[in-house]
Amino acid sequence: MLMDNTLEPLGITDSNIKITRFSAESVNGENRNVIEARLTYNVDRCPYCESAKVVRNGSKILHTRLTELHQERFEMKLYKQRYLCKECLKTWSARTDIVEEGHTLSHQLKRSVLHMAREGITATGIARICHCSPSSVIRIIDEAVELKSRVARLPENLCFDEFRSVNSTMSFIWCDAEGSDDVGAILENRLTKTIREHFMNRYTNRERAAVKSVVVDLNARIIIDRFHIVQLVGRALIRS
Ligand SMILES: [Zn+2]
Repeated sequence: MLMDNTLEPLGITDSNIKITRFSAESVNGENRNVIEARLTYNVDRCPYCESAKVVRNGSKILHTRLTELHQERFEMKLYKQRYLCKECLKTWSARTDIVEEGHTLSHQLKRSVLHMAREGITATGIARICHCSPSSVIRIIDEAVELKSRVARLPENLCFDEFRSVNSTMSFIWCDAEGSDDVGAILENRLTKTIREHFMNRYTNRERAAVKSVVVDLNARIIIDRFHIVQLVGRALIRS
């Protein structure tokens, strides 16, 4: 295992990370696999002043917990390259996306934990399988489940609109189509995925199924007006 210098089975595809040493030891009957690796790449320009006078300047060790593999525990001792700009004298480390800045548990380990949580495995069960503590498991789940803000009752008729926000990307906004000025939510982008997740994560199937119509493009006033007429006609028909 891992003889071919590939980290892919552990979910690491960053080609700037190269294994330098691999060791395994047994601690209290648990197999611990420790991968030592180097993270380095060429830097042409200083990210602060754009000078080309960038030199390598030692390394910094990052200990990170990887996802389990074959029911065994894996950790990584990663030597991150440090760089120095001889122009502005700023220093920085090589970056990788295997772990969030300042965190120990890798993204892949967190994904494994969340996957198991969705499958209904208990925190202690997940902790045993992933070789981490139950409190880590609970913290990972808490991090992932941010408090979802929602309106108390999803209106039957929604207005969807978009607007150009400060960073000049298109944001998404929705509100009640029937007069209330309350904004349902503003989302940072108008991607279908974002909008879908917004509603899926906050409202039950039943609530979403109760939505009767969606008016798109609030700027087109005519649509709203026509929509309201359709509403009135609809109500009149129901009453008669
Ligand atoms: Zn610089």
